Amino acid sequence: MSDTVETVDYTEMWEGLGLNVPAHCALLKAIGPAYESVYLSQENRPEGMGYFDFVMSEIHGLRIQELQDHKADGGTVIGTFCVYVPEEIIRALGGQSIGLCAGAEWAFPEVEQVLPRNTCALIKSFMGFKLGKVCPYIESADLVVGETTCDGKKKAYEVLGELHNTHVMELPQMKRPEDRALWRAEIDRLVAELERLSGRTLQADALTAAITEVNDKRRALQRLNAARAAAAAPISGKDALLAVQVAFYDDVPRLTQMVNAIADELEARIEAGVSVAPADAKRILITGSPMAIPNWKVHHIVESAGGVVVAEELCTGSRYYDTLVPEDGGTIEEMLDAITDKYLGVNCACFTPNEARVDDIVRMAEEYGADGVIHYALQFCGPYQFEGFTVEKALREAGIPVLKIETDYSMEDAGQLSTRVEAFLEML
Ligand code: SF4
Ligand code: SF4
Repeated sequence: MSDTVETVDYTEMWEGLGLNVPAHCALLKAIGPAYESVYLSQENRPEGMGYFDFVMSEIHGLRIQELQDHKADGGTVIGTFCVYVPEEIIRALGGQSIGLCAGAEWAFPEVEQVLPRNTCALIKSFMGFKLGKVCPYIESADLVVGETTCDGKKKAYEVLGELHNTHVMELPQMKRPEDRALWRAEIDRLVAELERLSGRTLQADALTAAITEVNDKRRALQRLNAARAAAAAPISGKDALLAVQVAFYDDVPRLTQMVNAIADELEARIEAGVSVAPADAKRILITGSPMAIPNWKVHHIVESAGGVVVAEELCTGSRYYDTLVPEDGGTIEEMLDAITDKYLGVNCACFTPNEARVDDIVRMAEEYGADGVIHYALQFCGPYQFEGFTVEKALREAGIPVLKIETDYSMEDAGQLSTRVEAFLEML
């Protein structure tokens, strides 16, 4: 992508995808100003964030065009909703993986006709984007891959399956050997489904290359995030969050290059003592439910109140990039074994017991020098709400202050949340 691209009219492409073009334009008109006020108002941003500003300005344009071109060249587009779906396998079979979780309220009245009202905003949002015909990503997807994680998603995929070509992976809820065997079989079932869809057969060299490419993306994100442990925060939490959010759907080698360029810049900033926050800004780690674009609400509240977010134990955070698939090569079976273990190692609250997530939070709070932790749960997100108790207890035992918040995508509670966050920062 270049930042000198002329404005292009994508209406024909959107119509071809079956979007409701007027409604879609209204959505884009809402996201543009929100991005401007949350992101472009920040001072002293790393120059490399210009790439992400450009990506956001073309979120439903150029990237969608690239996906159409990829399909015209014989490739596939695979939509996913969860960090457990292995991108390496999708890529090795000629697919581009795109994250479909959505972070804005859309068509909720229509959604509430097919799903219970007390469903989390993330599920309502992706269903609203589908029912309202405003998401060119899902309309580009040859297949969406769901997973049996929380009850809400599991049942929502039954409804989604009537509207779109859907494959559901059964994710176990424990991590015993028999659960691992089930997940290994599900990985094989995914391979078979993608082979059928693409008309290709999984090859060892393609899988080896895909493992390296996706690892490179994760390594770049690890570098960017490691820089946030510096005493003088070189990047805002909002910008770091955006880099991970975009990583779910951007072109992999390009994203890797751009994130590495930002990491170079951050490392130079650390050397030079350049920071985006005052030296006495309170450092916050955020943990809990995922935050999909354009959900920047909690980060924006914290950073508007004078704090700085230094780390995220989220699926749009460390759970996405922390672990890699070993690059030992070997047979297809051996690589699929390695993929099985890497993904089963992610610590989502839908697992029980899930002590490793609690350990991760305490370790990260110490590594990033967090003054306090905000545990964020979406309303009606049972797994993270329940686990909030265990997390709070462990943090208190470790002497780390914690604030638990429960919210949704609306801005109705923004004032009240700001007051609570301000009081928390003051108390630290
Ligand atoms: S929170 Fe759990 S269910 Fe949701 S994306 Fe993350 S791993 Fe998947
Ligand atoms: S795990 Fe929570 S946030 Fe994610 S889909 Fe389920 S209820 Fe929603």
